[in-house]
Amino acid sequence: MDSQLQTKEVKITFCGGTEGVTGANFLLEDENSQKPIKVLVDCGLFQGTSREEKMNLNKLPYNPVDIDIVFVTHGHMDHIGRLPLLIKNGFKGVIYSTPPTKEIAQIALLDAIGLMNKESRHNHNTDKGGEDNFVLYEEEHVDQLMTKWETVGYHEPMKAGDFDVVFRDSGHILGSAMVEFTYNSKKIVFTGDLGNSPAPLLKDTEKITDASYLIMESVYGDRNHEDRLERREKLEDVIEETMKHNGVLLIPAFSIERTQELLFEIENMMENSRIPLVPVFLDSPMAIKVTEIYRKHKDYLNKETNLIINRGDGIFKFPQFHETLSTEESKAIAESNSRKIIIAGSGMSNGGRIVHHEKKYLPDPKNTILLPGYQSVGTLGRLIQDGVKIIRIMGEEIPVNARVISVSGYSAHMDSDGLFDFVSNTAGTLKKVFAVMGEPKSSLFLVQRLRDYLGVDAVVPKFEETIKITL
Ligand SMILES: [Zn+2]
Repeated sequence: MDSQLQTKEVKITFCGGTEGVTGANFLLEDENSQKPIKVLVDCGLFQGTSREEKMNLNKLPYNPVDIDIVFVTHGHMDHIGRLPLLIKNGFKGVIYSTPPTKEIAQIALLDAIGLMNKESRHNHNTDKGGEDNFVLYEEEHVDQLMTKWETVGYHEPMKAGDFDVVFRDSGHILGSAMVEFTYNSKKIVFTGDLGNSPAPLLKDTEKITDASYLIMESVYGDRNHEDRLERREKLEDVIEETMKHNGVLLIPAFSIERTQELLFEIENMMENSRIPLVPVFLDSPMAIKVTEIYRKHKDYLNKETNLIINRGDGIFKFPQFHETLSTEESKAIAESNSRKIIIAGSGMSNGGRIVHHEKKYLPDPKNTILLPGYQSVGTLGRLIQDGVKIIRIMGEEIPVNARVISVSGYSAHMDSDGLFDFVSNTAGTLKKVFAVMGEPKSSLFLVQRLRDYLGVDAVVPKFEETIKITL
């Protein structure tokens, strides 16, 4: 049936998320059709250096009024963080994502507004004002956004002009999806972020075997991860060792996915009596809300996790586990020096409740801080990771005498070998791969590897470049 369709030429513009990891924003245009359409895949925030953050103030390279549909791959800020700007600038179309993505996005966007306001007040008070002083949008824009946002499950058919569209499970965080556009038996797949499968909670990333064009992430295009079993053993050892010395274990973690993975592993270790039964505090309002979304959407979790849930004891529910939502509850954690585990944000210690705990517990050599994620240059987490012995927290000098341990296996991203295998599954049908969402050296490394070993045409598109493809 499809084979009788006329070929067509469509345009893709790389409006963000290229020549860098963040700011994902891709425009797909089908102009010369009976049903012309302009769609976006993601509209994320540029994050990282202040130069990158300033890019969020740039005018969008399209008029939001003209956009018909936005497909959202997942709830991380670098994929959703500029969606309210579309609303602010007249967007009247519809947004589609999976149900968990919409719920995570609402929490993450409101949290981001809180942070932007706080930062703006801080800069104002410290005379840093001026151009660094920006609040991109307000709560009302997020509220309006939610009214235009429809939810669709994996594999449920959608339409965009002449295209059939489906979400496929990308295995990255709860509800994360690839977006697959089909016309004339040809497929364009936007991968969003791809997961580090097998993951403790999520199903594996779906295999793609019949794509013509891939617009794929390449964060870890040039690196592989630490072994998963190794990382679990390391976590177990660190907990045992710290508790043996009556210490406190601090874990700065990102609110989405990493926190839930850590909690799930700690819960399993306690239920199997592999570690001492000490109190575990989740001290982050955002992570507590996101954890509730994980509990709610068990259909989006893997078989093994569902077996555990169906055995009756649920997940993220064990006698030692405490969620401290209010500031009073959070402050009460520090009232005793007895042994415990504290998981709190932010993941790089550049703000959030973790810094209060760091101030109290880092000076004591009995305690340990476990860094389960990448710490970027310029963050407090990076200083701690680099072994700096005296750090500044809220204007005070704090000696770091606690043990500092890093584990790298907790990434939610597919590594270099995973990305290569992902492409090799569909190498037979591929016309071209566009490697995006990576630092240039990662993207270029992946592209070279795909060309050399799979004979696939692969490129790294430039920022705001438009390409034409024929379907
Ligand atoms: Zn992501």
